[in-house]
Amino acid sequence: MDDLENEQRYRSRSLWLNTLPGSLSPRASLDTNLDVDVAIIGAGYTGLWTAYELAKQDPTLRIAVLEAEIAGFGASGRNGGWCSALFAGDREAMAAEHGRDLAVALQKEMFATIDEVGAVCEFEGIDADFYRGGTLNFATSPAHVERIRADVDNEHLWGFTEKDFRWLSPSEANERIAINGSLGASFTPHCARIQPAKLVRGLAEAVERRGVTIYERSRVTEIAPYSLRTCAGTVRTEVIVRATEGYTPNLKSHHRTLIPVYSLMIATESLPSSFFDEVGWKERETFTDGRHLLIYGQRTFDDRIAFGGRGAPYHFGSSIKDEFDRDGKTFEELRKVLWSLFPSLGDARITHQWGGPLGIPRDWYSSVGFDRATGMAWAGGYVGDGVGTSNLAGRTLAHLITGTNSDLTALPWVNHHSRKWEPEPLRWVGVNAAKWATQKLDRREGKTGKRAKGAERILKRVLGGH
Ligand SMILES: Cc1cc2nc3c(=O)[nH]c(=O)nc-3n(C[C@H](O)[C@H](O)[C@H](O)COP(=O)(O)OP(=O)(O)OC[C@H]3O[C@@H](n4cnc5c(N)ncnc54)[C@H](O)[C@@H]3O)c2cc1C
Repeated sequence: MDDLENEQRYRSRSLWLNTLPGSLSPRASLDTNLDVDVAIIGAGYTGLWTAYELAKQDPTLRIAVLEAEIAGFGASGRNGGWCSALFAGDREAMAAEHGRDLAVALQKEMFATIDEVGAVCEFEGIDADFYRGGTLNFATSPAHVERIRADVDNEHLWGFTEKDFRWLSPSEANERIAINGSLGASFTPHCARIQPAKLVRGLAEAVERRGVTIYERSRVTEIAPYSLRTCAGTVRTEVIVRATEGYTPNLKSHHRTLIPVYSLMIATESLPSSFFDEVGWKERETFTDGRHLLIYGQRTFDDRIAFGGRGAPYHFGSSIKDEFDRDGKTFEELRKVLWSLFPSLGDARITHQWGGPLGIPRDWYSSVGFDRATGMAWAGGYVGDGVGTSNLAGRTLAHLITGTNSDLTALPWVNHHSRKWEPEPLRWVGVNAAKWATQKLDRREGKTGKRAKGAERILKRVLGGH
């Protein structure tokens, strides 16, 4: 591929990469052997936040980031731009194992993480369109009302207050965003809207300013204790950080650590002020609704709606290919759902369609960890909630690697080990069947307006909770 083809391939990964100013031409590749203190695989948020925090804590560390494509090529350059306090992991299970206080402490750290991301953006001069407007979860059927209100009540039982999570009546919800058929919504202020690629590319520049070297187009082909191999050189290192999220199954001995599940997005053209006069949306809240098969949206800096959802197929053998980023059926479904929520979109154009793989562990429980005996560290399994969580992961890994005991290293997700996924064909059958059952459950709830608690419970058990 020549430079122009590469640039086009990278830009076509998302609206966010497509509209970035400047060039996406790759940084230098690793072309020789190297000795470092810490080698990080993957230049997404996880790898870069880890590099950033390590370099901040100990500026003498020699840190290299090895990236197969370019910084932000993965989910970090393509996501929905919810920098949220959502944490993938069953809080009940966490409390049973580690105690209620630590489970609550983790959630509070997630709340604080949103401010932390905003503060670093400000300090480093990263203009990532960060806007802390909170997030809304709309009820568009009676079943949603029951489930979302129960979720809010449940958060209060954990000790969180109306300031953290509250139910909004239909008119209160409408004042924020007038969504068609809204029966109310829950609101939490713990979320900021961002432009994902601006954050990841800005972060890459910030870590370079702190002396970290990023090697792009430098795929790691082999991981051994204290060394990594790329096709052009071997890196000897004290510590290896695996920060490969949805791409993890491509690494030898990690085929069943995570599965890559595709989330797909569409974006409208910039919408006229008349649209927002009708719909409101002054606070740029991110939004979702109560259906089981996730949807998510944001009002972008330039007044588009960027809207995504799950539902694309899982591919046999956890396979990942550029062409899986696009699925006509899923794009069409997203378009229909978006227009049903905002009929006044009328004949607005969709200008961008894209997608990418995120990583799901078998128990849907994110983790971060470091084994000093082998020098291996990792973070991920965020199940699509990695924008905020990866910052907490980076700060935690920096403490673990430098041997700094802190409140962060005591949190319940540290050194959590999820069990492996089933071998194929079980995995393919199970994951696609769960997706089908989820869609069916949504259709049933949409028709009857009634919550199917039995089916919910079964699905939760199959999916491992979340
Ligand atoms: C469409 C979509 C929407 C999403 N929306 C949201 C959202 O709104 N909010 C939210 O919190 N989360 C969201 N997510 C999830 C979120 O984007 C991810 O959790 C997060 O970006 C993960 O960051 P990461 O650095 O761990 O992984 P990635 O950003 O995927 O980075 C991994 C990097 O590793 C590189 N790599 C892989 N293998 C190798 C190798 N062998 N050698 C060298 N490099 C390698 C890849 O090229 C990639 O750049 C979404 C994800 C998708 C796909």
